[in-house]
Amino acid sequence: MATLPRADLSSYEIVNHHFDAAADRLEVRDDLRDMLRTSRREVQVQIRVRDGDHIRVFKGFRVQHNGARGPFKGGLRYHHAVDLDEVRALAQLMTWKTAIVGIPFGGAKGGIDCPADELGPRQIESITRQLVDRLDETLGPQRDIPAPDVNTNAQVMAWIMDEWSKLHGEAPAIVTGKPIALGGSYGRETATGRGVIDILDQAAPDLGLDLDGLRVVVQGFGNVGAAAARIAHGRGCRIVGVADHSGAIAHPAGLDPDALAQHLRGGGALTEFPEAERIDPGELLGLDCDVLIPAALGGMIHGENADGIRARVVLEGANSPTTPAADAILADKGVLVVPDVLANAGGVIVSYFEWVQNLQHFRWDERDVHERLAKILHRSLGEVRARAEDLGCSWREAAYALGIARVVEALELRGAFG
Ligand code: NAD
Repeated sequence: MATLPRADLSSYEIVNHHFDAAADRLEVRDDLRDMLRTSRREVQVQIRVRDGDHIRVFKGFRVQHNGARGPFKGGLRYHHAVDLDEVRALAQLMTWKTAIVGIPFGGAKGGIDCPADELGPRQIESITRQLVDRLDETLGPQRDIPAPDVNTNAQVMAWIMDEWSKLHGEAPAIVTGKPIALGGSYGRETATGRGVIDILDQAAPDLGLDLDGLRVVVQGFGNVGAAAARIAHGRGCRIVGVADHSGAIAHPAGLDPDALAQHLRGGGALTEFPEAERIDPGELLGLDCDVLIPAALGGMIHGENADGIRARVVLEGANSPTTPAADAILADKGVLVVPDVLANAGGVIVSYFEWVQNLQHFRWDERDVHERLAKILHRSLGEVRARAEDLGCSWREAAYALGIARVVEALELRGAFG
């Protein structure tokens, strides 16, 4: 049974809460629930890095949640707060996400509990190569394919490909989100942010929204947040507030996210961006806007701050940014939450395209990638909305119900319940 929402849940509790709510609705048997909730495989390894005269030791994780629908797929996160429960939750989320958008992957996630911002590039390279060595037999183009997540990028993916290829022969399909020069796909780097805005674009007419002049706030200005802000700006939206780990800024008339990205690339801090006003990070979610895009970490919209949100739509670029307590508050306020498993699925969809291109040794052009991405998101959005209308429930519950039903069907066909 779904537990009562609290304000301070971990990603693990958040994802399991959503799973239980949808499983209740689908009347999934208790024994099947245990099977669906539990990871297929959890690997923990030791990673060492030299720091002056000292050796620092970190934990590396790879969790494969469910592979009924295809090889395991999911990102790698380098962050001091990474732990096994968080990785479990994110792996489970990937199982439902890949099923909801109908791509042939299972769910996985990995990470290292390191303070990535304190490590230099050589140390990041070293921990990445160690992680691949330790996970050698766990990964594989037909087994488990990592991708970027918080504090990992195309360069980290290049090191993964290089290390795994040393052990097994050239294998670009071992990882997605690679640089173009090493078999990456056009459009992958911005795919998650593009998908977030594609969903907004496609849903807008029915929601009575017009992208031209729409006021958008973005929390997190990394891979997902920066791309979403830039693409939204390009489609006529006004970016009225942005935050990253260092602070927050606002500009009621709308700031230029391309100029902000350039400012950050030049080494400037977000809060020093000259064309905006510095605000308290706690004020960001309460800014007057139409759409709020959380694109940082999990659990950032919770029972203590959800009531202050003034947006009409919350588009979850991040994974599990909204606690169940916040979901309930937002529903009462009439705020539409477009759930992570749909809103940020653009990344894994284009990762799927990259994997297919690598297996075929054939590169698609960027327009092809964008069109195919928009088509899959359009179909998925339609299916989630239709199910939400049928069941009379939130988009999140409808999306989970869709994903769970597809995974159960695949397990049944494989004879997993026999
Ligand atoms: P990233 O490391 O590129 O960027 C993270 C951003 O969040 C940075 O700007 C960082 O400064 C900011 N941030 C960190 N703590 C913050 C705080 N307390 N307040 C405000 N901002 C803060 O990571 P990313 O790849 O953009 O991932 C962001 C989120 O999107 C994560 O939840 C990730 O799981 C999810 N996601 C990423 C992808 C992808 O393709 N990269 C795909 C799907 C979902």
